[in-house]
Amino acid sequence: MAATATERKLLIDGEWVETGDWVEVRSPHSGELVARIAKAGAADARHAVDAAERALQEPLPAHKRAEILVRVAGHLARRHEEIAQTICAEAGKPLKAARVEASRAISTFTFAAVQARTLTGEMVPMDASQVGTGKLAFTLRRPVGIVGAISPFNFPLNLVAHKIAPALAAGCPVVLKPASQTPLSALLLAELETEAGLPPGWLNVLVGQASEVGDVLVEDERVKLLTFTGSSEVGWKLRKRAPRKRVNLELGNSTPVIVEADADLEDAAGRLAANAFSFAGQSCISVQRIYVQRGAYDDLLARFLTKVRALNVGDPADEETDIGPLIDRESRDRVLEWIDEARAGGAEVLVGGELEGELLQPTVIANASPDLKVNCQEVFGPVCTVNAYDSLDEAIELANGTPYGLQAGVFTSTLKTALAAATKLDFGGVTINEAPTFRADQMPYGGVKESGNTREGPAWAVREMTEERLVVLEL
Ligand code: NAP
Repeated sequence: MAATATERKLLIDGEWVETGDWVEVRSPHSGELVARIAKAGAADARHAVDAAERALQEPLPAHKRAEILVRVAGHLARRHEEIAQTICAEAGKPLKAARVEASRAISTFTFAAVQARTLTGEMVPMDASQVGTGKLAFTLRRPVGIVGAISPFNFPLNLVAHKIAPALAAGCPVVLKPASQTPLSALLLAELETEAGLPPGWLNVLVGQASEVGDVLVEDERVKLLTFTGSSEVGWKLRKRAPRKRVNLELGNSTPVIVEADADLEDAAGRLAANAFSFAGQSCISVQRIYVQRGAYDDLLARFLTKVRALNVGDPADEETDIGPLIDRESRDRVLEWIDEARAGGAEVLVGGELEGELLQPTVIANASPDLKVNCQEVFGPVCTVNAYDSLDEAIELANGTPYGLQAGVFTSTLKTALAAATKLDFGGVTINEAPTFRADQMPYGGVKESGNTREGPAWAVREMTEERLVVLEL
């Protein structure tokens, strides 16, 4: 074990526990051991659900929940650099991007605190019908119950925050299973919640095999809501296996962008270069398919490729690095295979497509047909495609030609074009003159089609995590 490697325990019922078994976290860049974490099994998962059930029996008032959330935001701010370093070490995320993620988590907790203080039901206009005359009715928002949360490796802090902060705001205890490759940020967040005064049982963190820990969250009927962020393949299977639970899914995408000839091409090129390759493309809304109106294709491409060539590939801990490693060698080799498939399918690799040392270079592929994997599936690597189109309708059809529907973008200076695209693009969100990789944490964020069935962002997540109870009074 490296001299700096640490050992971490699990949080169950307010106690930090060892299990005698360990999960290793290795740097995706150097392969060095970063930490080893106590490994949870099914019995630990059931203890965690027992603890959450006890927590639920002693509800925390909204003002206490809000105070804890605000305190966590403060702790995140104070330990910002340490947290960014943790994200960088376990996920191989370049420090620049890791710092942004740490800042965004502060925002997520801050907005969740607002929800804790303002969450209310609604008045029902009873005398709007004859049968309701003489009655008063309103709804209360009640916590849905225990929340089971499963999170992915690529935003190991902020996507955990998007589950545990709204759950606490809504009054729901959580049993969290972070990605096995990146559990350290989640455990650090759990430490901050405990320091902020969260009583035992409200947050339990289990690191372990999906088949053991995940199965308990799916099968235990006391877990009323499962919130999952990860691949579409896993997500939809989980939903099928838990027909009696709410199963909220935030899944993948194959993110398209349309660039009209009247757009500010320099601005578009800069935003696209930054957002096709940030964290080596391992974001669910990484720019993947760029469609450019034919008259502007050469101009946009020249500007874009200049900016792509200027990106720094290297050690994620280096301040200058834009693009680091993929999460593991298997993912890197898969992306290389997809690039080869595109070459064999007649596409042209304009930049990259090779390894630089152990790292995959940012790769731009022209004229890839829609059926090639680099277009029709989620690459989740530093690869994007560029193609020319003639009409906006054609571009929209190409953009919509995917099973996914998370976010899409359009660059144009014409309002009519922007609004036509926003209306016709079949995605959960459409950005105009901004890359569709953009996300602010108070936004409703989520997809349609294969990409999911819910919206995150504290104001939307607390609604999902509460149930409306109707109260009718005879006057
Ligand atoms: P993943 O392989 O689906 O894993 C996500 C989580 O699910 C991990 O905690 C994993 O645990 C767990 N898991 C895997 N199989 C499971 C099972 N059978 N039962 C219960 N849990 C199971 O996804 P990933 O590779 O970590 O993340 C990349 C994917 O997430 C991409 O598709 C990306 O687009 C998507 N994503 C979506 C959003 C969004 O908000 N829409 C945001 C970020 C990422 P282990 O780690 O232990 O295997």
